[in-house]
Amino acid sequence: MPVLTDRPILLSVPATNQYLESLAAEVHRTYFYKYPPLPVRWGQQISRKNRRTIRLGSYNHHTAEIRVHPILNTRTTPAFFIQSIIYHEYLHHVLGASHNRRFHKAERQFAYHRESQEWLRRNLWALLGRKKSVLTRPRVVVDWLTEQLALF
Ligand SMILES: [Zn+2]
Repeated sequence: MPVLTDRPILLSVPATNQYLESLAAEVHRTYFYKYPPLPVRWGQQISRKNRRTIRLGSYNHHTAEIRVHPILNTRTTPAFFIQSIIYHEYLHHVLGASHNRRFHKAERQFAYHRESQEWLRRNLWALLGRKKSVLTRPRVVVDWLTEQLALF
């Protein structure tokens, strides 16, 4: 065991948490600075193949915490996509649970809204751990973007 002296205890914290926190901080100061920042963490990893559904983000109304699915914790996930999830969950904090017209309108205010939708459309099958098939289509996929995903 190498002995590290004069090192911050931060070493025990995965760098990815700091990365997620920095993405969340940017979303907060860009769009939600009027509100106190919410804690944003990776969710628990549950290994499953051939998923039919996946929930990429969640907001807990009781604890006011945001969780991002750990499947997005890879180098290949663009930062703007992770931020789009955080943005979406912040909107639940501000606007409530419903994906109504007001919610969708607010969702389009995110600077990379289109890019995020496009990235999801291209990567959905990989996220679900399935091969693309015209015969089997996933049902509802994410808590968010349900309408757009009806395209699949
Ligand atoms: Zn939602």
